[in-house]
Amino acid sequence: MTQPIVSVQSVTKRYGSFAALDGVSLDVRPGEVVAIIGASGSGKSTLLRTINHLDPPDAGQVWIDGRLMGFSEGPRGPRRLSERDLRRQRAEVGMVFQHFHLFPHFTVLQNLIEAPMAVRGLSRHEASERARGLLAEVGLEGRETAFPAELSGGQQQRVAIARALAMQPKVMLFDEPTSALDPELVGEVLRVMQRLAEGGMTMLVVTHEMDFAEEAADRVVFFDQGRIVETGPPAQLLRSPTEPRTQAFLHRLLRKDR
Ligand code: ADP
Ligand code: MG
Repeated sequence: MTQPIVSVQSVTKRYGSFAALDGVSLDVRPGEVVAIIGASGSGKSTLLRTINHLDPPDAGQVWIDGRLMGFSEGPRGPRRLSERDLRRQRAEVGMVFQHFHLFPHFTVLQNLIEAPMAVRGLSRHEASERARGLLAEVGLEGRETAFPAELSGGQQQRVAIARALAMQPKVMLFDEPTSALDPELVGEVLRVMQRLAEGGMTMLVVTHEMDFAEEAADRVVFFDQGRIVETGPPAQLLRSPTEPRTQAFLHRLLRKDR
């Protein structure tokens, strides 16, 4: 079996005495697309934040492509990385948020070239060439000089995806990427994500879009109270879940859709 590109091992994350993540383990193979579902407050965002050490776990480990996240291998065991080295390591993991998080005072092009220049050491020319290619891939050719506020939510989210890809990450994490969008703009973002998945990108996607999960994901993971309750292929987990808590969650979701 191929080595997992993401390996989450017994990760616990506490806020005070409350465990937002309670011993979560998850292996993701290269090219795999994993959809993460679960009620609000179940720990989905916390999982993504611990994976790239925006929020370091209190216990357990995260490995990205065989490297321990947040630490370097020293002669006397693992040593915590400096903030600067952590930023470099984090570049392996692209992240897309619900609310885009573009720099509002930067143009689209500036949003895409800033981190590759600062963290990856690309020249302005190299970074700009790469950015133009990515903008074409997400259907935003020619919008280099626009500011985020001049774009629709769907366009801004596609810029955010291109910006994450500009770092050439090994893995992409999406945290409810379409939840803040008007319904008519959801499809254009999901289509970009679908193409990315078909192109072989490894993706973890927190989503309430069950049609997307069913079509694009290789596996669905159901979260409840900081734990993985059930995991399986989309058709099985979404249509005939075995755990009562998964059944109850999906039942509530379907009722809301009608
Ligand atoms: P989800 O993304 O599934 O809605 P979260 O991962 O955001 O859930 O949150 C899981 C739980 O952890 C929630 O109860 C939330 O209130 C709590 N939590 C998340 N972040 C923090 C924080 N920075 N401080 C305190 N509690 C937090
Ligand atoms: Mg969340």
